[in-house]
Amino acid sequence: MSVLVIGGAGYIGSHAAHALKRKGYKVIIYDNLSTGHASLASGFELIVGDISDTPKLAAVLRRVDSVMHFAAHAYVGESVSHPRKYFQNNLVVGLSLLDAVLDSRVRKFIFSSTCAVYGNPAKIPITEETPRLPVNPYGASKLAFEYALEAYDRAYGLRFVSFRYFNASGADESGLIGEIHDPETHLIPVAFEAIHAERGVLEIYGDDYPTPDGTCVRDYIHVNDLAEAHILGLEHLERGNSAELNLGTGRGHSVREVISTIERISGREVPKRMSPRRPGDPSELVADPTRAEKLLSWKATRSLEEIVSTAWKWSQNKRGATSTN
Ligand code: UDP
Repeated sequence: MSVLVIGGAGYIGSHAAHALKRKGYKVIIYDNLSTGHASLASGFELIVGDISDTPKLAAVLRRVDSVMHFAAHAYVGESVSHPRKYFQNNLVVGLSLLDAVLDSRVRKFIFSSTCAVYGNPAKIPITEETPRLPVNPYGASKLAFEYALEAYDRAYGLRFVSFRYFNASGADESGLIGEIHDPETHLIPVAFEAIHAERGVLEIYGDDYPTPDGTCVRDYIHVNDLAEAHILGLEHLERGNSAELNLGTGRGHSVREVISTIERISGREVPKRMSPRRPGDPSELVADPTRAEKLLSWKATRSLEEIVSTAWKWSQNKRGATSTN
């Protein structure tokens, strides 16, 4: 079985590629390296190309049985200030990929969606029945792609799984691959940058939310728990089924809890200060992962401690700075 991993030189895509390889799948990575890193694709066949390059894509599609699509822009704040980029890349270019797939013999497609399709849900935990009402262009671009998949499934028999990720975090246990974003905005790597004095202090965006300690609550899920779900998603497709599934742990952690876990595991204090709320941040986002657990016989097994310790190991390796550990 051959899988084309589009965006496989990025954070989640590279972890999925490694998980596939461990399970014996043949993997081809397709990435334009605009935000991806060739180092994360090392050990794989890497085809450097744009998804808008239909002839190039068509040639690769002839060599695979299924496609996983991770290539997208994913900064919520940027999507608000620069929506054109998000609708163009995530939707318009994404649809040209979908049509290239349709014009090939591939009929199995896995899509990286997001809990941002739910916007500010009225009820926590979030099930797949929660209305999809995104509150930013990033979530809207992902939702539009979900609609296209639903229609292509019904009309053309293109089977798909849309995975709605909660907060992807952590790194492969090997320490060889992990999160690299430029600029970095995510809580755990930003805290590491503050520890290493590579930026100012970590700003805690708001402590007046209606949560137990006043800071936002999120469902942090280890990237390898996500990666393993993708393999089970492929098996679901092989059984001829489509699905839209939340991928989360079902447990929420506050910003303060994450910071204290980082301090405990790294043995370093995170320089931090309180700041105003970040516009667009919902107070709490926690998945109800029951549907994925039932349909895929999957469960997120890694804890917040494992998320932080693998991310810390990766960040130390990346910096080549074990002496500061
Ligand atoms: N956060 C923070 N300071 C930062 C980055 C993030 O307080 O420098 C908070 C943010 O408000 C949110 C949580 O950490 O409540 C997770 O944010 P992140 O950007 O990692 O993921 P998101 O939930 O936005 O996808």
